[in-house]
Amino acid sequence: MNKIHMTTPLVEMDGDEMTRIIWQMIKEKLLLPYIDLQTEYYDLGLKKRDETNDQITTLSANATKKYGVAVKCATITPNADRVKEYGLKEMWKSPNGTIRAILDGTVFRTPITVRGIRPCVRNWKQPITIARHAYGDVYKNTELRASGSGKAYLVLEGEGGESKKELIHEFRGSGVLQGIHNTDRSIESFARACFTYALSEKKDLWFGAKDTISKTYDGRFKAIFDEVYEQEYREKFQVAGITYFYSLIDDIVARIMKSEGGMIWACKNYDGDVMSDMVSSAFGSLAMMTSVLVSPEGVYEYEAAHGTVQRHYYKHLKGEETSTNSVATIFAWTGALKKRGELDGNEALVRFAARLERATLKTIAGGTMTKDLALITSLKKVNAVNTEAFLDAVAEAL
Ligand code: NAP
Ligand code: MG
Repeated sequence: MNKIHMTTPLVEMDGDEMTRIIWQMIKEKLLLPYIDLQTEYYDLGLKKRDETNDQITTLSANATKKYGVAVKCATITPNADRVKEYGLKEMWKSPNGTIRAILDGTVFRTPITVRGIRPCVRNWKQPITIARHAYGDVYKNTELRASGSGKAYLVLEGEGGESKKELIHEFRGSGVLQGIHNTDRSIESFARACFTYALSEKKDLWFGAKDTISKTYDGRFKAIFDEVYEQEYREKFQVAGITYFYSLIDDIVARIMKSEGGMIWACKNYDGDVMSDMVSSAFGSLAMMTSVLVSPEGVYEYEAAHGTVQRHYYKHLKGEETSTNSVATIFAWTGALKKRGELDGNEALVRFAARLERATLKTIAGGTMTKDLALITSLKKVNAVNTEAFLDAVAEAL
């Protein structure tokens, strides 16, 4: 059989622990037999990051900018325990944080739906994608406790521009106060990433904020989304047959619950934090959630939403059997291969990625699945298998 040819390499970011083991198996069992796989390989495993003083992470992000599409394995974000465990020179930053800062992206998370794993919300038929703004608001706040009476002000000392001062509250006793911010530039990037992604996925985009109450702050989000849409995307959306819809966040929440799903839901930072956990657990499991970072220029980095599954890795090291779900990591690969294929006009690669996704879902729908899914499936006949046996079953279906 002729292997599928690739014209541009994928940026491959290897990672840590159980997901690193799965990564290798996916390549050996599901990709290399069929594709003449071209990748520019970056080892983001913690050992290599430490050896290179984390330069490898920056290099991999720059390569992603150059080629346009990357696929990333889950990686350890070091804490004090990890510094000891790996004898690290430093407590290196989260690779995802570093990559996100370089690509200036927005993260889109989508549940993988399959027969036999039912969402808790009966009417949800299509996955709901959460697009979370990842800068500012309460995540970069300044807070104070007011211990007694006094006046709190919001002050802007303009450089060249105007200065402003507004009374927040006149305290008559103790209380709390908080200062938060965002920037037009970050909100614009967020808006562009959402519109670009909606076009690339051919899905409607919904956005909710609270501009009736927060007229200036949330009002600015609404206005920037409107401006970017009118100036750059309205016509493209019409051609693609998709819509952009803004409403108040509470109205959006109510409509989402009554909907059939299938939309991209753009959320401000805090809303996205809360709603993505609601959506992923309602759809079944974190191990069935894909994640893609999209830059405003349309650069894509695909990964699984879960971590390195440390507990399973330690079992694996002791020679015990594991049943780790590889679906989100398989879909990180198929997402990246599909996008690479689209950009290069490589039909065969796009078709292969779609076929691998179908083979994965068919395996689960046929009753063969890892333990995490076996616990929640509505299927009657279930064959709960170990990590490797699941990948073998997918290879068989493929
Ligand atoms: P985790 O790896 O997501 O795993 C947490 C638990 O969720 C697991 O112990 C397991 O539950 C379950 N789980 C997650 N993925 C699964 C899968 N594919 N199949 C089956 N079960 C799965 O989170 P963590 O243990 O908190 O973090 C481990 C490491 O991952 C940390 O060093 C963290 O820094 C890193 N991390 C990386 C990323 C990333 O690179 N994007 C994201 C998050 C965390 P049971 O043990 O009950 O089976
Ligand atoms: Mg959270």
